[in-house]
Amino acid sequence: MARVATPLWVTALVARILEDEGRRRGPVVDWRTRGRVERNTTVRVAGVAMRRGEFSRGQWDLDETITVWSVGRQFDATMVLLHELAHWLTRAQHTRAFWAKTWSLYARHLPRRYWRYALEHEGEYRAWSIDAAAALEVPRARELIAKRRAARASRA
Ligand SMILES: [Zn+2]
Repeated sequence: MARVATPLWVTALVARILEDEGRRRGPVVDWRTRGRVERNTTVRVAGVAMRRGEFSRGQWDLDETITVWSVGRQFDATMVLLHELAHWLTRAQHTRAFWAKTWSLYARHLPRRYWRYALEHEGEYRAWSIDAAAALEVPRARELIAKRRAARASRA
């Protein structure tokens, strides 16, 4: 869990977002690496094979720090960074406003081919994430909403 120098792409991305958002000051970004996990099993998220120890993690606290534990898949670390930045920008937990901000950042800064990954990684267990993605016409989001409605109807 060593603290490492923040990669240049992270600094550049954060600067761009702060400029877009009209913010003069940004959070402190504390970039760390995660230790390797032994006996890593492989899981698939939206067709992407990931080993369990390869998922990046993030944390935002009410002081001005965002911490990201990155494992080296840049798209996954980017997603985690954007998620934490959305917390910082909205000063909110997983509210509707938070997910709207998160998906607007994904739509702008996460390559389109990873949207489905983000949707499945963040979406399946967070209804408001899917709603925010659908509002931005993210492929498959509407399908997931329909699925959720059908599941609810069959329970009723
Ligand atoms: Zn969060």
